[in-house]
Amino acid sequence: MLRGRIIRQKFLEFFKERGHEVVPSSPLIPKDDPTLLFTNAGMVQFKRVFLGEEVRPYKRAVSCQKCMRAGGKHNDLENVGYTARHHTFFEMLGNFSFGDYFKEEAIAFAWEFVTQELNLPKERLYATVFREDEEAIKLWKKIAGFSEDKIVPLGEKDNFWMMGDTGPCGPCSELIFDQGEAFSCGSPDCKPGCSCDRYLEIWNLVFMQYERFPDGTLKPLPKPSIDTGMGLERITAVVQGVPSNYDTDLFAGIMHALEELSGRPFKESQETEVAFRVIADHLRASVFLISEGILPSNEGRSYVLRRIIRRAERFGKLLGLREPFLYKIITPVVEEFGEIYPELNKNVTVVEKVLKIEEEKFQETLNFGLELLEKEVSKLSKEGVKIIPGELLFKLYDTYGFPYDLVRDYVLPLGFDLDVAGFESLREQARQESRKSWKGALERVPEEIKSLLQEGVQTFFVGYESLTEKGKII
Ligand code: ATP
Ligand code: MG
Ligand code: MG
Ligand code: MG
Repeated sequence: MLRGRIIRQKFLEFFKERGHEVVPSSPLIPKDDPTLLFTNAGMVQFKRVFLGEEVRPYKRAVSCQKCMRAGGKHNDLENVGYTARHHTFFEMLGNFSFGDYFKEEAIAFAWEFVTQELNLPKERLYATVFREDEEAIKLWKKIAGFSEDKIVPLGEKDNFWMMGDTGPCGPCSELIFDQGEAFSCGSPDCKPGCSCDRYLEIWNLVFMQYERFPDGTLKPLPKPSIDTGMGLERITAVVQGVPSNYDTDLFAGIMHALEELSGRPFKESQETEVAFRVIADHLRASVFLISEGILPSNEGRSYVLRRIIRRAERFGKLLGLREPFLYKIITPVVEEFGEIYPELNKNVTVVEKVLKIEEEKFQETLNFGLELLEKEVSKLSKEGVKIIPGELLFKLYDTYGFPYDLVRDYVLPLGFDLDVAGFESLREQARQESRKSWKGALERVPEEIKSLLQEGVQTFFVGYESLTEKGKII
């Protein structure tokens, strides 16, 4: 079996041998980019290079980038647990050309890597293209020997990439792997490009070839560029022939530790499988975020961290884990990733303490909150109301620290909807209020965590910055 870590290594080496500079992952918290909650793709650290504002001593780069898609434009938080392919935290492999090679080489590299290095069977691979991109269609035929039916033309929404409303943009092309009939959603329209798990998108190649102006016109860039991204967990699942990312060796240590701790098998039932996936994903995300100095609280990035810890906690309850538990199973995460991301090794003790404190705090309030929710739900049921009012959602959130997605996980199976808009507007109101009396971010950090900060863990300086930056983020 080809291990995930070997696939990561092979990717970096493959492109290194082809003249690419191996560039380390940038942090999850993007530097100098208050518009972005988290780094969500490999290209983020090269944005200024693509824009021509910064020149690097190389024109080709390769990286394995830590990514987080939980909040902002890309938000997969609520997919986690329910799809086989989404995480909040994941690693994105990518190769980049800054005005150097273009479409032909990008397609040829991708094709060679998946068919020669990883030995994926050609007959199960497909490509999607932007429907007006004749050039890409021709190249897939030439390089991969694809017949017309293996190339799926899609519209702007799916296959045209833009950095923002203006600036560099261009068509993209995705490499798809057919996981087989058993993964199909069953729709008669289920074909490559379908969003179910059968035709799994493994690699996205972006051909940056235009500049977009405020009036919407596109002008060809003098030196087109390449940006690609392939999820390490997804490609590992495909190579290892397992049904989901969570069944790869990248997650094996965590799943094993969780089985030991809960005494429940990962695949005991559909419910346990979802719970294991959520906990494993959220554990990884929390370990990586805390190692970068993010601390749980009620705003911005810190709130995302709080939400994922609390969501994991709630799924822990479904497995019968009544006591704080995440802090007990960070070792497999550090063992799997510490070598590549040394910030994990450096901050083990801090991560452990922060998790434990946050988990304990949540356990205390969770029980009160659940009690209130149960009472209200039975009252609403009697009245024949099938929607959870915004006021209740806000009260749960504000007084009991109950993120609304926890409520959602609880009430959806009971046939309830949620008044999310009502909740959001109350939350916004409260946020405006609290800004008026804003004294400084550290004021809100619990004493125990403040003292941890003072223990002087170096990367926690990032934490100070990210906390004081909060106001700008959302
Ligand atoms: P999907 O359609 O499956 O949500 P995407 O089109 O949003 O994926 P891209 O933005 O094109 O994804 O990102 C490039 C690659 O990163 C994807 O082809 C996939 O391999 C991987 N990827 C994207 N989102 C996730 C995620 N939430 N978890 C794991 N891998 C992901
Ligand atoms: Mg997506
Ligand atoms: Mg997609
Ligand atoms: Mg994509």
